[in-house]
Amino acid sequence: MTQTTETIFSLAMPYRETLDIRRTVYTGGDGPRVAVTAGIHGDELEGLYVCHRLAAWLDQLQRSNPQHLLGQIELYPALNPLGLDTLTRSVPVFDSDLNRSFPGSQQGDLPKRLAAAIMTALDGASLVVDIHASNIYLREIPQVRINSEFSDTLVPLAEQANLDLIWIHGAATVLEATVAHSLNSRGTPCLVVEMGVGMRLTPDYCEQLTIGLLHLWQGLGVLAPEVALPALTHHPLVADDSNVHYLNAQTSGMFVPATAHWTDLRRGELLGTIVSPFHGAILSEVRSPVDGILFTLREYPLVYEGSLMARVMARKGGAR
Ligand SMILES: [Zn+2]
Repeated sequence: MTQTTETIFSLAMPYRETLDIRRTVYTGGDGPRVAVTAGIHGDELEGLYVCHRLAAWLDQLQRSNPQHLLGQIELYPALNPLGLDTLTRSVPVFDSDLNRSFPGSQQGDLPKRLAAAIMTALDGASLVVDIHASNIYLREIPQVRINSEFSDTLVPLAEQANLDLIWIHGAATVLEATVAHSLNSRGTPCLVVEMGVGMRLTPDYCEQLTIGLLHLWQGLGVLAPEVALPALTHHPLVADDSNVHYLNAQTSGMFVPATAHWTDLRRGELLGTIVSPFHGAILSEVRSPVDGILFTLREYPLVYEGSLMARVMARKGGAR
């Protein structure tokens, strides 16, 4: 078992520095190759910490039982280094979303070149997990989002990932220029995980996903069957476009939450109020339209009329 750091993309910057995308690679035997990617949006940090936790686990394996790594594991914590360095969601200067630049082009502008290099590096992996952390406005419970076009392949994998929710999107709502869509279209399975909130870390969620990834890798034969892993703690519910409700603000103001995230909700239950900083009145209330589960909740307090406040998954048939 070896551990190396490799550079998959390098470009001279206008003033002397170079822009590099690096990966940490753990190599054992000739078994399957898997990858974890993070930081494609420069304001999303949860996935960087998951990479750290996986690396710490693999370092320990290398000391104790190196023969138990049967394949190869690649960690890409920072796909958008310029964005991460400058706390910018997009690729700075170009102001373009790297995750709308795929499959990219080696002759294109910087975002397209980054995308092309990332595609080349990940092509042919047995599984890629691309970790996102929402944005600064909304907090998400650990979930995987799957395009219905690829659900036959991806749902059985997602079920082993120790997450709370699998959200299957209809083809009409899918963004085709993402790394996940490009990889899945070319036959490299890619799961998109959304969890936590932008610019913050949620260590419990990161630990939950880390355990799930280790189990996934063991199931794929990357880790030996005799490796003892921490037990799975979560089994996901399944949502689709028919049972997800979007709650939007009826007034502008400041949102004050009244409930914990990821609660079993009753129809009509109060999720929070929107108030004015200028006077004592409550401007509007946010209430659940259904019996269900709160999986997205507003994190950033200032809201505009129409802002997304929460997403609730209606429970089907009343059973969990
Ligand atoms: Zn993202």
